[in-house]
Amino acid sequence: MIPRIDSIDDTQSLYLDFIETLKQQGFKGDLNPDYANRVVLATDNSIYQILPQGVLYPKNSEDLVLIARLADQPRFRSIVLSARGGGTGTNGQSLTDGLIVDVSKHMNRILEINPDERWVRVQGGVVKDQLNAALKPYGLFFAPELSTSNRATIGGMINTDASGQGSVLYGKTRDHVLELTSVWLDGTLWQSGPIDEAELETIKQRTDRVGEVHRLLDGIQRERQDEIDTCFPKLNRCLTGYDLAHIRDESGRFNLNSILCGAEGSLAFIAEAKLNVLPIPKHAALVNIKYDSFEASLRDAQALMQWQPTSIETVDSKVLNLAMGDIVWDSVRNYFPEKEGDPVIQGINLVEYTGDDEEELREKVEKLCRHLEQISGEPGKSFGFSVVYGASEINKVWGMRKKAVGLLGNAQGQKRPIPFVEDTAVPPENLADFIMAFRKVLDDRGLAYGMFGHVDAGVLHVRPAIDMKDPEQEKLIREITDEVVRLTQEYKGLLWGEHGKGVRSEYAPEFFGPLYPVLQQIKGCFDPRNQLNPGKIATPAIDGAELLKIDAVPTRGQHDRQISAAVREQYDSAMNCNGNGACYNYDPNDAMCPSWKGTRERIHSPKGRASLIREWLRLMASRGVDVKAEAEKARSRSGLLALPKKISNTLARRKGRYDFSNEVHEAMMGCLACKSCVSQCPIKVNVPDFRARFLEVYYGRYLRPVKDYLVGSLEFMIPALSKYPAPYNWAMRNTLVRSVMRRIGGMVDSPVICTNSLRQGLDQRGIDWATPEVASRLSAAQRERAVVIVQDAFTSYFETRLVLDLVDLLGKLGFYVMVAPFMPNGKPLHVHGFMAAFDKAAQRNTRMLNQLAELDLPLVGIDPSMTLTYRQEYKDAVEGELPPVQLIQEWLSQQLERVELPEILPQGEYRLMAHCTEKTSAAPSIRQWQNIFSALGQQLDVVATGCCGMSGTFGHETANLQRSKDIYDLSWRDIVNHPENRGKLMATGYSCRSQVKRFDDQQLPHPVQVLLDVVSAV
Ligand SMILES: Cc1cc2nc3c(=O)[nH]c(=O)nc-3n(C[C@H](O)[C@H](O)[C@H](O)COP(=O)(O)OP(=O)(O)OC[C@H]3O[C@@H](n4cnc5c(N)ncnc54)[C@H](O)[C@@H]3O)c2cc1C
Ligand code: SF4
Ligand code: SF4
Repeated sequence: MIPRIDSIDDTQSLYLDFIETLKQQGFKGDLNPDYANRVVLATDNSIYQILPQGVLYPKNSEDLVLIARLADQPRFRSIVLSARGGGTGTNGQSLTDGLIVDVSKHMNRILEINPDERWVRVQGGVVKDQLNAALKPYGLFFAPELSTSNRATIGGMINTDASGQGSVLYGKTRDHVLELTSVWLDGTLWQSGPIDEAELETIKQRTDRVGEVHRLLDGIQRERQDEIDTCFPKLNRCLTGYDLAHIRDESGRFNLNSILCGAEGSLAFIAEAKLNVLPIPKHAALVNIKYDSFEASLRDAQALMQWQPTSIETVDSKVLNLAMGDIVWDSVRNYFPEKEGDPVIQGINLVEYTGDDEEELREKVEKLCRHLEQISGEPGKSFGFSVVYGASEINKVWGMRKKAVGLLGNAQGQKRPIPFVEDTAVPPENLADFIMAFRKVLDDRGLAYGMFGHVDAGVLHVRPAIDMKDPEQEKLIREITDEVVRLTQEYKGLLWGEHGKGVRSEYAPEFFGPLYPVLQQIKGCFDPRNQLNPGKIATPAIDGAELLKIDAVPTRGQHDRQISAAVREQYDSAMNCNGNGACYNYDPNDAMCPSWKGTRERIHSPKGRASLIREWLRLMASRGVDVKAEAEKARSRSGLLALPKKISNTLARRKGRYDFSNEVHEAMMGCLACKSCVSQCPIKVNVPDFRARFLEVYYGRYLRPVKDYLVGSLEFMIPALSKYPAPYNWAMRNTLVRSVMRRIGGMVDSPVICTNSLRQGLDQRGIDWATPEVASRLSAAQRERAVVIVQDAFTSYFETRLVLDLVDLLGKLGFYVMVAPFMPNGKPLHVHGFMAAFDKAAQRNTRMLNQLAELDLPLVGIDPSMTLTYRQEYKDAVEGELPPVQLIQEWLSQQLERVELPEILPQGEYRLMAHCTEKTSAAPSIRQWQNIFSALGQQLDVVATGCCGMSGTFGHETANLQRSKDIYDLSWRDIVNHPENRGKLMATGYSCRSQVKRFDDQQLPHPVQVLLDVVSAV
């Protein structure tokens, strides 16, 4: 039995006091000093891990003012605060050992859109893609681009002065900031924008901090202009934050925002911003140019600048090969045609053109193409190219690049690509030479890496693969950074070309030279006691205030190495989460993490759960507990022997006795086991897998709730219950029984069993169970067209009609249909961590199904989630061949040439709401539905949706009812009720159909049922 984790790193009393005082003063947001929240916010995408004292989630600007004003009071002057948005920083920008002020949870409203004057006003926590989705109907967009656009916030972008592809044309974030509303440490709420001399003079007269800051900055600008001109590089990616070079704009107006933008939260909190937005270019083209060496692509990129594109990006062969090995290549393959005799592609340049005048754009592209044709094959030049027109096609190529870069992080083995020198910038004309020198630094140390870059802006992205758990390899961080800093200086560039400084601020004095003390003055004026994100960019010139050092901040690796290698291997996907935050995707119509979207609580995200598991494993290891051995014990031990102890532990838990395992348990229980993380996370973090392992060990110490037994045994009991459905159904409809089920059983809205059994329906159709004996009696013709439907408990017993409809459809299409005898598939056991029982169910089922598969009978399943279990969860439970059960559409789409169709079919338009697991884990299968529908003369559109909120039995659990409904409301409800969709919608998941039935009282058909209607209509 695992021990209680009772002692954790407690929040310091001063911080608890601060939090308590905030509460008393009317703070409206959430205050979280609990260990789980602290652990989850201890990391970003960097190599660092710093445990904060707590997390504050302000509701509004007034809350920010309260925080700042209180921190300014004498008794709280050692309190340290770090603002946080999406937490996607790559160098510890938002990490702190003080309090995190996370504005993304509540302060995420778009306040005003003014399409005529082309500006928006937003709160700091608005996500960049959220803003662009709201602007799209007006034909506008917020131009600065960044790879993390689906989770990075405007506050974060402003504070890192974010930019990415297209920066040469569109500039950086600060180029689009019109006004900022910031909260200063003394509680001032200040609105800043360009001001004229008269206004500046008035402000300078003020006796408060605002006056002081303006006097100081104006003085610096006037007195040190020559030094500023020399020190600040004239690069597209010039120094960000405290940007003295731009304190006066082109028309000479004073603009405080040039100091605040890029300041990494070290000067003030950004509460709101008024931003400039641009019309979406009407036309776009992308020229994909191929090279036989990366160096050639880099050097040529420079020459290509003369053809005046909007942007140029170079990608190396490592990144490209990852894309080629991934499903994403399917969508762009045609744009990279391979001709016989062509060299191997070792680098590509992606050259983009955008504009409103189509003719002009085509002319530019054609000019470039003529040039490329002329020089094709010359030494150091390209050997082929393709042109893509139209934003949606171009986005496929950019999507391929983004995905491939994410896949870099999914490298095998202990060495992982990590950011620390990942965003250098040099003048574009120096980039090729700089990169060659940079590669030597990495090659000399035998490190693996992939590279791509915004060559037009001179920015290189590279993440060398290093195992930070190895203390020897950890030393490379210092060694390599120092060398790269030297190189960037040699090539007249910067270490921090895109992502900001963070922990790398230690190099700020070196880069700013004689102006660093000026930066210190500015910092000191805003934040005299170094309370705002200390250690980043500059410190005030006071005793004890020091910049962070790249090798003096605790790292993830130092924590992770405390866990044994064997346990790390068992929980590898949690260990490998690199905190890039892709699971904080804001888009409600994207499958990624419904529990995060439904709660906006970071502990209820894949990253949250992975972070908690890692900390739990570490704390267990520090107590000498071998979690792997505990799992084995939990499997073999008699439940009865442990019962008294479990009862007393559970009672103690109810009385509030602390155990960190309970915090981890709470986070795990919020997971819907929808498995979107398994495929959508670039690192393939598999929460359902480690959640099941955790639950197995956790329930070795605590009692399981009754509902777990009900759910786990459902598949086993249902065949018996279905023999006499009337009493079961009566009970499920009876108010009293329902109430008992809700309160004691922990289950709500349990479905009723179909009264017409599957067996009766099959008998009426003369269909046999598929057994080896029956199969051996098939004629050659029958065998040739045979197919076996593999049952699942939900469809067979609660939606029998659907199985029969599939039988009828396949029969009408000319197949010889059989149905495999029902056998529990075990998925509900896995979800609830009954691992030993799951393994047994999986092995039994595998034996039965493999006997059929060995007879060359194709096996197809109906419910996506249950069917995909055979290739996913079964992997760890079964030795040898997995049962080759295909999704119905995977198999049927390969049979289209063999189906027997009536000559004339009615035509219809349908819309598919696919199950999350299916569209994320078996993405091509969605296109296969479209192929099938098209072959039958039907049009099928796929609706972009998030999760329906049911996910197996999650939505049926009493504790989850409200959350399940919240998740349904986020994405499904509007689509289901949209008048345009009436009669057109279909859903593939049993869960999804049940959810629509229960919340909107509509019965969506399965695609199979629609197809049956189509073929039956003639
Ligand atoms: C895979 C990956 C790709 C990336 N690609 C790009 C890219 O293409 N271009 C690019 O520019 N960056 C990129 N980044 C870096 C990162 O996404 C950006 O720096 C982004 O702007 C950070 O936004 P955020 O909301 O996540 O901010 P956070 O990481 O939460 O915070 C960043 C900084 O801003 C401060 N801050 C946040 N909100 C506020 C606020 N309201 N008030 C005051 N201070 C605040 C924080 O204290 C911190 O110092 C990438 C990161 C990753 C992991
Ligand atoms: S779970 Fe995946 S997507 Fe989320 S932060 Fe970790 S690695 Fe990134
Ligand atoms: S399984 Fe689904 S709900 Fe659970 S963490 Fe993964 S994405 Fe989130």
